[in-house]
Amino acid sequence: MHEEDGRTYTYFAWVDWGNTADDPTGLLRTWEAPSGIEREQRYLPGTGWQPSYVREDWHRGRQDGRFDRIDLATAERIIQRWEQRRTEPEPGSAVTSLGVPRLRLGATEVIALADAEGPFFSPRVEAFPDATAAQWAEADRYDPGSVDAEGRWWLRFRAFAIRSDKGVTVVDAGIGPADSPAASWAPVPGVLPESLAAAGIDPAEVDTVVITHLHTDHVGWAVVSEAAVPSGGGAPGDRRPYFPNADYLLQRAEFEAIDVLNPQLREALTDPLQAAGRLRLLDGDTPLRAGRTVATPGHTPGHQSVLVADGRDLVLITGDLLVHALQLLHPELAYAHEMDPEAARHSRKRMFSRGAGTTLHLATPHLTEPFVSA
Ligand SMILES: [Zn+2]
Repeated sequence: MHEEDGRTYTYFAWVDWGNTADDPTGLLRTWEAPSGIEREQRYLPGTGWQPSYVREDWHRGRQDGRFDRIDLATAERIIQRWEQRRTEPEPGSAVTSLGVPRLRLGATEVIALADAEGPFFSPRVEAFPDATAAQWAEADRYDPGSVDAEGRWWLRFRAFAIRSDKGVTVVDAGIGPADSPAASWAPVPGVLPESLAAAGIDPAEVDTVVITHLHTDHVGWAVVSEAAVPSGGGAPGDRRPYFPNADYLLQRAEFEAIDVLNPQLREALTDPLQAAGRLRLLDGDTPLRAGRTVATPGHTPGHQSVLVADGRDLVLITGDLLVHALQLLHPELAYAHEMDPEAARHSRKRMFSRGAGTTLHLATPHLTEPFVSA
């Protein structure tokens, strides 16, 4: 029992062991009052305890064997080991992946790659005109990090990597460097190169880049200028694929809509990819080395997501299938910048309703937490 602000809580921790007991992938602590779970925090090595979401059903879902309820002394020992290994990498290992949020599915890892964070460009009620005050309050409880002190929508911008013994796939490419097409509205430059390095991923080892859709905050590092990322040759304005050995996968329907979506992206993105022989156009769902792309149209005409499965565990790397917790809690709610709200709604409902007995994790670019349960 634990006293705080004159109230009594049961206070305990959860560990997500991942696949191995010597390197857990997550650590949470929970304040439980007689009325239920009141507060949770997640431990991030190098940062400390951070606010996390509270949702009763997640809490119950943790009885599934992946999480163990542990006492706080055990939690402290895990933290000590993490921090020690973070500050003193083992001899011979140049980088440590500790502190990089990731989800393990069998032999496959889905790794969150932070690029930036910042406010949305217009008032948030305009972004979701149909959301009620009660729905906003619910979403703010669920994702308190998505609203800042001035009431603005605060977004994360992130990409993901899928690493397995078959190679490395990157899904989306963030807002990009200082001269990227997102510079007109997003807080460039992003830090994706540093996030890749922290995860131990060399851009040259990435064999596949999936572009979920042609919005500037998802393609920023896909193609870079010589000025932003010098290679030692060429003129400052020359553009080349940032992942030099990767095929870049885009739905054909998305490519064909480029003039409606953003004609500037021809010169900035698709022309250089085609010149390098790296653009591959897909027609619907397509297998990847690990996982597969799934067409999820609506946000844009050829929007796609990536699904990775291991038995009954599924991870959906969503792209902008949902952009805010509102659309997770209420999949019917349209986002004002969806090109076809009806199709977007249909895609969300279809993807969120998985068969009984499966666990669906969502890996989203814009929510505060990189991984949430659907
Ligand atoms: Zn986006």
